[in-house]
Amino acid sequence: MSVSPVMNAPLQESTAFPVDRIRSDFPILQKQVRGKPLTYLDSAATALKPQCVVDAVSGYYLEESANVHRGVHYLSQRATESYEASRERVRGLLNARQPEEIVFTSGATAAINMVARGLAESVLQPGDEVLITHMEHHSNIVPWQMIRDSHGINLKVAPITDSGELDMDAFAELLGPRTRLVSVVHVSNSLGTVNPVKTIARLAHEHDALVLVDAAQSVACMPVDVRDLDCDFLVFSGHKLFGPTGVGVLYGKLDRLEALPPWVGGGDMILSVTFEKTTYNRVPMKFEAGTANIAGVIGLGRAVEYVNDLGMENIAAYERQLRDYAMEVLSGISDLRLVGTAAEKAAILSFLVGDIHAHDMGTLLDVEGIALRTGHHCTQPVMDRFDIAATARASLSIYNVREDVDRLAEGILHAKKVMQ
Ligand code: PMP
Repeated sequence: MSVSPVMNAPLQESTAFPVDRIRSDFPILQKQVRGKPLTYLDSAATALKPQCVVDAVSGYYLEESANVHRGVHYLSQRATESYEASRERVRGLLNARQPEEIVFTSGATAAINMVARGLAESVLQPGDEVLITHMEHHSNIVPWQMIRDSHGINLKVAPITDSGELDMDAFAELLGPRTRLVSVVHVSNSLGTVNPVKTIARLAHEHDALVLVDAAQSVACMPVDVRDLDCDFLVFSGHKLFGPTGVGVLYGKLDRLEALPPWVGGGDMILSVTFEKTTYNRVPMKFEAGTANIAGVIGLGRAVEYVNDLGMENIAAYERQLRDYAMEVLSGISDLRLVGTAAEKAAILSFLVGDIHAHDMGTLLDVEGIALRTGHHCTQPVMDRFDIAATARASLSIYNVREDVDRLAEGILHAKKVMQ
């Protein structure tokens, strides 16, 4: 294979997007891995953290370490202000109407479970239907299976095509009078497919079904506007948005959150408690029982500021260029099969090369300092759909450059020589 025409392209991608400066914001990129410069292609699993986010987390512990919402003392007030400032930043990021619509959770998974449990205890009746798609992450499958088994709902699954797109005709046909909720991934973490969630929400609402959008992948690579999408709920995790692990967000339209019973009981989520009766706090506190991941929330707020400074539109445009380049380079490698070739696709490339097992590919690339994901990516039904056990997945982000893609291509060619 000849990769020379596009390989070894300049490091700087475009003058509008300050990728050199961005790379210097992420200290871990200076690291040598196995004696090689780190080529980080695993941002879909978790994004790297800029220095400012690390500083915000340590700043909380060093400067304002105190519990929130509870103390009258200075440190507690400062911590509360920083915590609530993060809520406002996330509101802005998602264009939610008010900060009360933003609930901090431990991640996307916890947020989906919160909605599943809450709806099961309030809205869902035996025989009601929840509609998901064949490309969901396990965290948007298992919670619904759990309430299927405990509450007698039916779980319907909309099929996907050979290119990894949602079959919209089949999806529309699956909507019916018993559909209470459509829960759908915005950007597939294993295929990269960008789903038309605005259309999906409109169709679902025509059937009076609620809509939950799993924005775990999309929130870091494109503008996500909950008012434009008109979704009822949306979830994401901070760590994929350059924020800390262990913190995430449940967005809900205010009336939806008010109608949703809390899943976890404890301190901070109450207005009054007697042994006879507890009155719950207002939204969003109703869903934030116990001491929150305060440092994580503050770090997430700083991460939101960071992406806002870059501009989500600019990030999306830059990653589109990277995706096109990566598609071009990988498509030129003989025996390489891309899994997930949707017309609307994020910079997530799942692939297999000949009969080389994805894990072997991952291990050989690791020797070259290239970090990518191998396995089923918590989407085993997607693997079943394509009749494969696993893929290698390269996921690109704001700090990646063409040179990273070139290194990946060289690594793959080397792996082919070793294995074939
Ligand atoms: N949904 C999607 C599409 C994901 O990619 C992930 C994480 N891989 C999740 C949900 C779950 O996120 P977390 O593990 O941070 O809760």
